[in-house]
Amino acid sequence: MSESPRVSRRSALRGAVVLGVGAAAGGGAVLTPTAAQAAVPRPTIASTSDWGARRPGSLTQLSNDPDKIVIHHTASANSNDFSLQHAYDLAYTIQGWHMNENNWSDSGQHFTISRGGHIMEGRHTSLRHLLDGDGMVQGAHAPGANTSGIGIENEGLYTSVLPTTQLWNSMVTFCAYICQQYGIRSSQIFGHRDFSATACPGNALYARLPQLRSEVQAKLDGGGGDPPDFQVVVDNGGSGFGASDNWGTSTYSSQRHGADYRFADPQTVSDAAYFRADIPAAGNYKIETWYPANAGYNSATPYVIYASDGNRTVHVDQRSNGGRWVSLGTFPLAAGNRSVVAVSRWTGTTGYVIADAVRISSA
Ligand SMILES: [Zn+2]
Repeated sequence: MSESPRVSRRSALRGAVVLGVGAAAGGGAVLTPTAAQAAVPRPTIASTSDWGARRPGSLTQLSNDPDKIVIHHTASANSNDFSLQHAYDLAYTIQGWHMNENNWSDSGQHFTISRGGHIMEGRHTSLRHLLDGDGMVQGAHAPGANTSGIGIENEGLYTSVLPTTQLWNSMVTFCAYICQQYGIRSSQIFGHRDFSATACPGNALYARLPQLRSEVQAKLDGGGGDPPDFQVVVDNGGSGFGASDNWGTSTYSSQRHGADYRFADPQTVSDAAYFRADIPAAGNYKIETWYPANAGYNSATPYVIYASDGNRTVHVDQRSNGGRWVSLGTFPLAAGNRSVVAVSRWTGTTGYVIADAVRISSA
C-alpha cells in the first residue's frame, strides 16, 4: 500500500516526461526538471514544535486514510496581524481552549491557517501522516467526520465577510496538497455545517466552497505553483514606483529604461526605492532589473525581493551589463498588489545606487 507514493495519473505521466528529457541530456548540459517533479509542491507548514505546542494527552492513530477535508472558521477576531508570531500565538491559544475548556487531549483540528496565510499543524502527528500520505490521527473538530476528515481551522469569522487573500491562497494550495497526498477528490471538500448543526464556517465562506473545490481541482490538473502567463514592467516613471526626494532623477545615461532613472548615494539609512506590482496569483516569478551602467555606479547594489517565504537580498554590479534586462532570479511571490522589489541604499560599497526598472514574469 505504501510501496509507491500516491501520485495522480497526471503527475505519473509528467514523471515519465522528465525521464525522457534527462536521458537526452548529454555533453555536460544539465537540464533541470521544473514543474514536472511534483504536481502540487509542499507548502510551508509549521509543525507543533515550531509554534511551541503543549504536550498532548493520548491520541488515537488510525490506519485508514482520510477521504475528505472539513473547512472551519475559528469564529475569533478578524485580526489584521498577519505575522508568523501572531499565527503561532493563535495555534497556541486554540490548543489551550481545546485542552482546558473542552477537556480534549490536544487541538481538535488537524491544521490551522492564519489570516496572514501561515499554515500550521494543529493536532500532533497530523503533519507526519500528511507528508507520508498514510493514515491519520483521529480529530475532534467535527463529530461524524473525525475519523475520516482532515479538519482545517481558518482564522476569523466569515459569516458576512470573506477571508483575506493570503488566507484564501493558502487554503487553496494546502487543500490541493492534502488531496494529492491522500488521493482525495476535490469534490470531497466540505464545511463543518455539512456534518453538524453549526454556523461554521460562516455563510460567506461556506458559499465559496464551490470555488474552493474548483481552484483546488485546477491546481491538481495544472501542476500547481505555476502562475498564469503574466508579465509586467515597472519603470521608475510609473505609478508602481516610489522613492523619497533624496533620490535624484537623471537622464545622463542613454542606457536608461524609459525617460529617466533615479540615483542615490549609498548610506546606512532605510530609504529604499520601491517597485510595486499586482501579482495575479501565488507562484514562482522571474524577476529582472534594468539599469544604466557606469564605472562610477555601485559594484554591489542591494536589491531586496519580498518573496512569500521571506525577504532575499541580491547584489548587482551596476558598473556593467547596463541597458538590458539582468536576472535577479526566480522567487515565490504571494498574490496581491504589493512592493515586490526594493533598491536599498544600505551598502558599504561606493558609487550611486540606481533604480530604473523591474520586470516580473511568470517563471
Ligand atoms: Zn467548525
